[in-house]
Amino acid sequence: MRNITIAIDGYSSTGKSTLAKLVAKRLGYVYVDSGAMYRAVTYYAMQNSFIENSKVKVRELIDHLPEIQISFKYNADLGFAEVYLNSINIEKQIRTLEVSSYVSQVSVIPEVRRQLVVQQQEMGKNKAVVMDGRDIGTVVFPKAELKVFLNASPETRAKRRYYELIEKGDNVSFQEVFRNVQERDYIDSNRKDSPLRKAKDAIEIDNSDLTKEQTFQKTMELVTMTLEGYE
Ligand code: C5P
Repeated sequence: MRNITIAIDGYSSTGKSTLAKLVAKRLGYVYVDSGAMYRAVTYYAMQNSFIENSKVKVRELIDHLPEIQISFKYNADLGFAEVYLNSINIEKQIRTLEVSSYVSQVSVIPEVRRQLVVQQQEMGKNKAVVMDGRDIGTVVFPKAELKVFLNASPETRAKRRYYELIEKGDNVSFQEVFRNVQERDYIDSNRKDSPLRKAKDAIEIDNSDLTKEQTFQKTMELVTMTLEGYE
């Protein structure tokens, strides 16, 4: 069977990562969480005091980009690859609301994007990859054989993210999670460099009223159709 590239883009908390992980597992493909890379750079900026009074010190962060090494290592117990920053596992640290509140400011920086996109393209150069993010179908892999664009109502998305954080034991309110989801959508969709857009040839799935399993089934139908088209 021919190997393809699958790009999954969409708004915050639409379940992109959950879907991408399931699809990659079913197909035996590599899964890459590109959002984790932007979160890793953000975490680095926080750890090194390149964020002050809620503002990113852009120049300082750009100057230190060569010191940032991001890698993924497969964790067999979890069934997916965890993200490492300079050889330290930061999978848990990057999922906090604090990182979420700064990540969109970091991901508008073209120098950051350039560095991460090169790495993402390298990771997907042999195909057989499922990558999720905001610009995978438009910028990273514009020739991906299958592009899925996930959407859901802002309330549904904020609720999902809220319960996810609460389950992990984070002390957050629904209002602040809702605000963060809306703010990230706004910044991600309105930035100059690689804004969040549905690629022309992407297939949109609104999963407001779908379960994870139903979203997965719909996507697998698209995968099958795509693969059949190459037979
Ligand atoms: O996917 P996730 O919510 O973890 O992404 C965190 C943030 O990283 C997004 O809100 C966006 O600002 C940025 N991002 C991006 N381009 C990508 C993936 C994520 O700008 N391909």
